[in-house]
Amino acid sequence: GQEEIISEIFHGKPVLAVLPTGAGKSICFQLPSLLLKGVTLVISPLISLMKDQAEALTARGIPAAYLDSSMSSNEYGRVLHAALNKQCKFLYVAPERLVNQQFIDFARQAYIAMVAVDEAHCVSQWGHSFRKEYYNIHDFIQALPTKPLVAAFTATATPDVRRDIIKRLGIPEAKIVVTGFDRPNLHFAVQRTQDKERSLLEFMRKHKKDCGVVYCATRNKVESVTQLLRRQGFSALRYHAGLTPEERRENQNAFVGGSVPLIVATNAFGMGIDKPDVRFVIHYNMPKNMESYYQEAGRAGRDGEPSECILYYEPRDVRTNRLFIENGEENSELDEETRKIVKERDLERLKQMTFYCFTSECLRQYILNYFGEKSSSYCGNCLNCQTQFEEVDITLEANTILRCLDALDWNYGAATVIDIVHGGKSQKILGKNLDKNPEYAVLSERTVPRLRQILRELQFREYVEEKGEQYPVICLTPEGKAFMKTEEPLIMKLPKEETEKKS
Ligand code: ZN
Repeated sequence: GQEEIISEIFHGKPVLAVLPTGAGKSICFQLPSLLLKGVTLVISPLISLMKDQAEALTARGIPAAYLDSSMSSNEYGRVLHAALNKQCKFLYVAPERLVNQQFIDFARQAYIAMVAVDEAHCVSQWGHSFRKEYYNIHDFIQALPTKPLVAAFTATATPDVRRDIIKRLGIPEAKIVVTGFDRPNLHFAVQRTQDKERSLLEFMRKHKKDCGVVYCATRNKVESVTQLLRRQGFSALRYHAGLTPEERRENQNAFVGGSVPLIVATNAFGMGIDKPDVRFVIHYNMPKNMESYYQEAGRAGRDGEPSECILYYEPRDVRTNRLFIENGEENSELDEETRKIVKERDLERLKQMTFYCFTSECLRQYILNYFGEKSSSYCGNCLNCQTQFEEVDITLEANTILRCLDALDWNYGAATVIDIVHGGKSQKILGKNLDKNPEYAVLSERTVPRLRQILRELQFREYVEEKGEQYPVICLTPEGKAFMKTEEPLIMKLPKEETEKKS
């Protein structure tokens, strides 16, 4: 996926790249920058990451620097001076910096060829970690004498958020490049366990030689889980924002360097950490949204080897997260109305996260669909696929749906199509004479969720496609027409009906 992004930037076009964690984001702007005249400004909210990247570039002989608020005005001046004198190719700054007058004066004199925006979802109120300072980016760019190229990057953005990002950054013409979100080597599992301590210890005993991360929701939890593991003879370190910077750094280095295999941490741990052989990521508590979950779980198996991502669910986690969101301390600088919007969206995200813990469908499919990616409804490498699925012959259902579409003289949305074959009696069905469709009520014995799964499978196999942005409608494809003419059976893996009814 990197090639397309690099090529867009190289040809001077703005781009929004959506790449999963660990996909190699930095090279996408670093490589084309080297060919541009002028400085590339990299905007990032993460000081440790800025520092790491600037140092890594410098070590490779590419002049790079960063600005952070702990610098003396001397140091600060020296960095800006170097950048003005073409002694700096990459300059990393936090978004707060963009309203600083000294920095603005510098930016007007320097030739800024490109602005690379990291963690671009922070600019969107729809995103999962909105930051008001990101609003500065647009004004800052507008005020520059020569408009730089803008490249934005995020690891997690749903289609709505993507559209919002390019609007907020003032690059509506940007190409949105989404590289695949799927990480086939990761095995996903949700355990609704009554006794998390026991589940954790059982898992650890089976994975004594592996290294992994255990994420907990609070500092207290980090402390108690670390103690638990140590008492049972596992060598584990802790990591959370309440520790001294020295201890955090030491623990992180010991883990990354491989001298201690286990780290128990809050979500403060992990940004910019590149350890390829993490064999498991356990979430001892449910995170507050799928974005955080997938980003944290995605730290497992960067080397492509099979790795485990396990989430321990208990109802209390939902309440804890709800409290976090309702108190909303993270957003104290926002005005009342914005805070309300952000809160509502966060609660909606929490709901989606909770659904993940309860779905009996394929977990991978759930994740990929959440991020707007189509996928098969059966991956075979998640706990649900392995325990909840059975093979079902859906030839009849598939053909009925396809024939139904074929007989329509107008395109309708998925819900209406399902309503026709299911025999719905709504105003819409009767008013538009859809009950005259030859396939009307042919599948009235099936449940609506099941028909939805089958329709999704047909979509995934490209027998039907969804068209239209605002009002998506389902259309039959030439492949679908061809399939109708064959007598081929169609088998798919589906969640067992029994478990479905129970849930
Ligand atoms: Zn699966």
